[in-house]
Amino acid sequence: GESIRLEGVVKRYRGQTKPAVAQLDLEIDAGDIVAFVGPSGCGKTTTLKMINRLIEPTEGRIYIGGRDVTAENPDKLRQSIGYVIQSGGLFPHWSVSKNIGTIPRILKWDKKRIAERTEYLMDLVGLDAATFADRLPKDMSGGQQQRVGVARALAADPPVLLMDEPFGAVDPITRARLQDKLIAIQHELGKTIVIVTHDFEEATKLGDKVLILSEGGHIEQFAPPEEILAN
Ligand code: ADP
Ligand code: ADP
Repeated sequence: GESIRLEGVVKRYRGQTKPAVAQLDLEIDAGDIVAFVGPSGCGKTTTLKMINRLIEPTEGRIYIGGRDVTAENPDKLRQSIGYVIQSGGLFPHWSVSKNIGTIPRILKWDKKRIAERTEYLMDLVGLDAATFADRLPKDMSGGQQQRVGVARALAADPPVLLMDEPFGAVDPITRARLQDKLIAIQHELGKTIVIVTHDFEEATKLGDKVLILSEGGHIEQFAPPEEILAN
């Protein structure tokens, strides 16, 4: 993984009087899972999306692995950062394997390499390739779709994985399984992972560190879960 650093980051949406993120300084170590938690509207999603520039910061700088990504081509940047959203965000008319190969195709990998990578990733997320490779998302459960979303995000081996409420739409048992799977994947691949959640238990279970935000993207606490739970 690579480190992520936010310096003086501010986001003011047009027409809003108060900034969604007022002044954020944050350093995430390479290879950590950091969970953003806090009440609805406190700026979690805004902050996450500024890291891959789905949202442009109004002010400030963001560095990934020491590179100033606020100066990079945003499309290129997004090809190098995995992104997973709540309901998987899969292309509904594309099969599982076509979904997983999205970024490798953009990067013009050859067919054989894409096929091998797809098979590896399906195995990694625990989906049998023979059963699921040609399936459409609508013919899979929420949890299975979520796994495809994770596999797709990992396709080009990005150093950073951003996840916005990735397990919010699945039942509690499936969610617990997916959380365990994510921890296992993290141990195997050593990615830097940022996960937005409104679920404090999920944050303390998954995070090497938990970032508790309050309105305006203010940092209340940023510490390992043991420390947060002790207070
Ligand atoms: P969270 O993810 O913590 O629920 P968000 O980052 O989605 O919070 O939102 C932070 C604040 O910014 C909220 O007050 C929200 O209403 C506002 N906001 C989010 N997106 C937009 C937008 N596109 N335009 C205007 N305001 C927005
Ligand atoms: P989440 O914060 O979990 O992504 P939301 O339901 O808060 O989901 O927001 C859904 C979408 O609407 C997001 O793309 C967000 O940027 C946008 N949005 C959120 N709040 C506002 C707002 N006050 N004005 C305009 N767009 C908003």
